Amino acid sequence: MHHRLSKSKIISGIQCQKRLWLEIHRPDLLKFDQSIQARMDTGHKVGEIACKFLAPGGIYIGLEDGIAHVLETTRRYLGSSDLPIYEATFAFDQVLVRSDIVIPSGSGLKVIEVKSSTQVKEYHIWDCAIQFRVLQGTGHTVQEIQVAVIDSSFVYPGEGNYHGLIRTEDVTKAVLEMQPQVESWVDQCLNTVQGSMPSIEVGDHCSSPFDCPFLDFCMPSDWPEYPLKSLPGISIQLRDKLKQEGFEDIRDIPQGRLSSLYHERVRRVTVSGKAELLPQAAKILDFLAYPRYFLDFETAQFAIPIWEGTRPYEQLPFQWSCHVQDAPDQLRHLEFLDLSGQPPMLRFSESLLAACGESGPIIVYGSFERTVIRGLIQRYPDLATSLQSLSERIVDLHPIMRQNYYHPKMCGSWSLKAVQPCLVPDLSYSTLGEVQEGSLAQEAYAEAISPDTMQERKEELRKGLLAYCEMDTLAMVRIVEVVSEGVGS
Ligand code: SF4
Repeated sequence: MHHRLSKSKIISGIQCQKRLWLEIHRPDLLKFDQSIQARMDTGHKVGEIACKFLAPGGIYIGLEDGIAHVLETTRRYLGSSDLPIYEATFAFDQVLVRSDIVIPSGSGLKVIEVKSSTQVKEYHIWDCAIQFRVLQGTGHTVQEIQVAVIDSSFVYPGEGNYHGLIRTEDVTKAVLEMQPQVESWVDQCLNTVQGSMPSIEVGDHCSSPFDCPFLDFCMPSDWPEYPLKSLPGISIQLRDKLKQEGFEDIRDIPQGRLSSLYHERVRRVTVSGKAELLPQAAKILDFLAYPRYFLDFETAQFAIPIWEGTRPYEQLPFQWSCHVQDAPDQLRHLEFLDLSGQPPMLRFSESLLAACGESGPIIVYGSFERTVIRGLIQRYPDLATSLQSLSERIVDLHPIMRQNYYHPKMCGSWSLKAVQPCLVPDLSYSTLGEVQEGSLAQEAYAEAISPDTMQERKEELRKGLLAYCEMDTLAMVRIVEVVSEGVGS
């Protein structure tokens, strides 16, 4: 059987040969989720900006007419023009590569591989090394090969001016040093695709650098119910050691084997099968005065900033939900959501300050809200004093729960989404619409502010976002109630 590999397949093969085999022989098993799509969309947008600002006026080679046509078109342009080429395509020794930007010059080619991250990663250099081999193999001289990434210190001056958003790093030296390995990667990958499915177990390679889309297929049916990785923060060394000692499930580990108190608590509770709620939690929470403000934020992050004065991937708040408990049996809900598409941060800050009054604990889950407020303090010096007072009223539920509560079903996580179903099982995020977690809220927001989104759809997204954020703060209210009553066990 004859196979041609693309550079992306070789890279996935370097990480897991089984994944490479599945991509070629069983693409029907691939689970293509929204996060993969969102990453691809971001990649395309960053690619467009990179072409425009690093190598303007080039020629784009689309795939519409098939591989043979793009290979021929690339060859023709390189032979007759010195304009930059976007998505130039080359094939050599059964490997196909599409290079983001190729700039011809008298003495050779400059190749730029564009990535939407803010740092050059090792697998970016693998990517360049494979391209280098193929381009050299097709008779081209590659003078320089660069990785283009996003400069996280860039501040968008507005009016479509993205000069400085992309920075490049010359990786030619690392790519040259890697060449002897590339040939063996290709051989190994070709052997893999020509053979039967490699037998590779699920492990760390399934989630790094990205989640593998074949995980559902690979997950064995006898996977331990409480795997060792659910011991919070367990090191790879300790995990491997425990495995060598024959322990696969947390419940197999004998008392006295784990030195960390957290690990021992997780082990003890998991073995018992019953939740543990220490009385200290109720004491801390009972001490909180009224009115109590239960607060949650949603933020957007854009690889390419869309609002003047903002940075790439900056957390920009567009929504808050606040349940205010004026007295034990008096609960009201306040909220803010800006889907105008204009920068929401100032209105967000002003409305938040108005809602949270002058006194009373502001209860959050995790450090996120405090971090976002810190960003707003820097952005709006006029509001700094008031925002700082808000920040000082924050009480973080997360460490209180981490110290005092564990349920076997939390599987080593004290996130709100792990704790809430154990303590307040009658509340369920699954009853919400399409927005059921933070990353989906970001995607819903981006869709809602897009000029292409119809009004009806926008309303649907608005409802989904409001319901989701309200659920987060209601979950905190209910958790505090349940813990205060000491019924969490
Ligand atoms: S889930 Fe893991 S073992 Fe299975 S193909 Fe992906 S990376 Fe390989």
